[in-house]
Amino acid sequence: MPHLFNFFRSLLHSLFPTVDSEAQCTFCGKTQTQTKFIVAGPGVNICDECVHLCNQTFAEQKQKATTAREGRCSFCGKTQTPLMAGHAVTICEECVHLCNQIIAEQQGA
Ligand SMILES: [Zn+2]
Ligand SMILES: [Zn+2]
Repeated sequence: MPHLFNFFRSLLHSLFPTVDSEAQCTFCGKTQTQTKFIVAGPGVNICDECVHLCNQTFAEQKQKATTAREGRCSFCGKTQTPLMAGHAVTICEECVHLCNQIIAEQQGA
């Protein structure tokens, strides 16, 4: 679904415009200088390490066929999607995938 993907990516770019130099990961608390990359969301940020961790967690969840946690994604606000909860924020699988893309683009540029 390339069209859908591009839509979500442009949506994410509008949600996560540029990286704040003083950004701090809302999941693990690391700052921009302590990690390679931070994706800034609407009031929440996630670093590349946490995105990587989410990737693994979602992959494990699929293998175990567990049901999604209840909650709302702190990044896009969706509820009907697999979610991963941090200390104070939650991120859905779609946003994790989009973060992967953004990080890959930033690192590949
Ligand atoms: Zn983090
Ligand atoms: Zn989301």
